[in-house]
Amino acid sequence: MKAPAKSSESSSPALSRASAKKEEATALFALLEEHEHEQVSLVYEPSSGYRGIIAIHDTTLGPALGGTRFWNYSTDRAALIDCLRLARGMTYKAAVAGLNLGGGKAVIIGDNKIRNREPIFRAHGRHVKALGGRYITAEDVGTSVGDMEFIKAETDHVTGLIGKSGDPSPVTAFGVYRGIKACAHHRYGDDSLRGKRVAIQGCGHVGYYLADLLHKEGAELFATDIDAVKLKAVVDDYRATPVKPDEIYGVDANIFAPCALGGIINDETIPQLKVDIVSGGANNQLAEERHGDMLEERGITYAPDYVINAGGLVNVNAELEGWTLDRARNKAGEIYDTILMVFEIAAEEGMPSYRAADRLAERRIAAIAKVRQNFV
Ligand code: NAD
Repeated sequence: MKAPAKSSESSSPALSRASAKKEEATALFALLEEHEHEQVSLVYEPSSGYRGIIAIHDTTLGPALGGTRFWNYSTDRAALIDCLRLARGMTYKAAVAGLNLGGGKAVIIGDNKIRNREPIFRAHGRHVKALGGRYITAEDVGTSVGDMEFIKAETDHVTGLIGKSGDPSPVTAFGVYRGIKACAHHRYGDDSLRGKRVAIQGCGHVGYYLADLLHKEGAELFATDIDAVKLKAVVDDYRATPVKPDEIYGVDANIFAPCALGGIINDETIPQLKVDIVSGGANNQLAEERHGDMLEERGITYAPDYVINAGGLVNVNAELEGWTLDRARNKAGEIYDTILMVFEIAAEEGMPSYRAADRLAERRIAAIAKVRQNFV
């Protein structure tokens, strides 16, 4: 049994510890209030050392889906903020993709290179299970399909399993390709990419498949990658002109397709752009929201990243729903119309496209919430 707290004799150190703890707790709730989440769950499992956070942002459209990120965050607060931010992003992505899913995310705090993974991921599986299906997890940075199998041993609320939907990048790339065509339609009044010059940053999974689709349609490609082998594949297979990594922003092209890192649309790169359209698969392309405004001011058409790269999420949804690959591709193909809808809202409401995408998501969520209110 623990000794009772010495509250009565507490002089300044105990008091200040108590008030610091109280302050920290208040700050945590302030954070939840600010981010407007439905539920946040924190679990520490002592035998494995598992420290996990699951954030459920919104379940209006369906169970909250989002991957589990395994990362050595500098502070618990940083982990919580990342989890909240990513969960919110998933709500918006699922909503504009027309999926019946809400937004959620999980983080596990720790060294993601750890060898003995089973206890950690079984503990995480128990944590997911405890939420009773309100949250469904998947792979993310620092986790693998093998980790998902450990989770599966504890709960069915996990996707991206071995032998199931597999590599999402072909579906993602198809959605990006359809999104690029929608941008061309919006910009040039014709969605043909024949003869259009496209600069691709990143020749990895998404970049390679995208290059294939663009090449087949007769686009002229420029490509870069820091990995010479990946770059060579796109140069050899699709007759792309190789470009140095820091020169891709200045290529005189119609379209810039970022398919590597986030944050690449920023104060340094925007002045270099010579394109009409920025439209690619990378996540979090805008370093800050104001860079979306800067693109708008420069008259550059921007396809909001979470709208155009939703094919990956469509692929995960296909696994949940038992869809065929064809059906998943068709659903990802609808990104064409969604991008046009985003541009329509942007024009109607006089706002940049990245804000219009948020509006589209919020409209769908609000509409479904209303319909649901009217039935028991
Ligand atoms: P990947 O790791 O297979 O490919 C990324 C490529 O970018 C690599 O070849 C890498 O060498 C290259 N790269 C890294 N830094 C670079 C730089 N500074 N300049 C040029 N090239 C650089 O990843 P991926 O699966 O193709 O994903 C690419 C992007 O798309 C990421 O932002 C990812 O979050 C996003 N995304 C991917 C999917 C998917 O289905 N794979 C779904 C949605 C979003």
